[in-house]
Amino acid sequence: MPGEPQDDCLFCKIVAGQIPATIVRETDTTVAFRDINPQAPTHVLVIPKAHYENAAALAAGAPELAADVLRETRAVAEDEKLESYRTIFNTGSGAGQTVWHAHAHVLGGRGLTWPPG
Ligand code: C5P
Repeated sequence: MPGEPQDDCLFCKIVAGQIPATIVRETDTTVAFRDINPQAPTHVLVIPKAHYENAAALAAGAPELAADVLRETRAVAEDEKLESYRTIFNTGSGAGQTVWHAHAHVLGGRGLTWPPG
């Protein structure tokens, strides 16, 4: 069922508190935590608590939840006092997605070049 926790999902386990993460924000529907392999001084992941395999599945299956995630990316940027930042949803293996639970990367605290690799 879309949205149901998956036993083999790393980020579902973070939501359930079964594996550790440095959580910086939490709402009824989302969790934000520091990326374990940061690519910038601020690198936070914002995830929906419900399991959707990526941003495309989230947008199609639960657009209001996608909006919650987006709202939280802004809140992270405010908390971290980022004037400029980048929000990224890697969607599909060809785009670099490695964890199959929707997540927004919030990157900031250094200059970011365009286009990304
Ligand atoms: O977009 P992508 O799927 O590649 O991003 C997954 C991200 O999850 C990576 O940046 C990785 O460092 C992060 N990660 C994490 N904590 C884990 C496993 C992965 O922050 N326990």
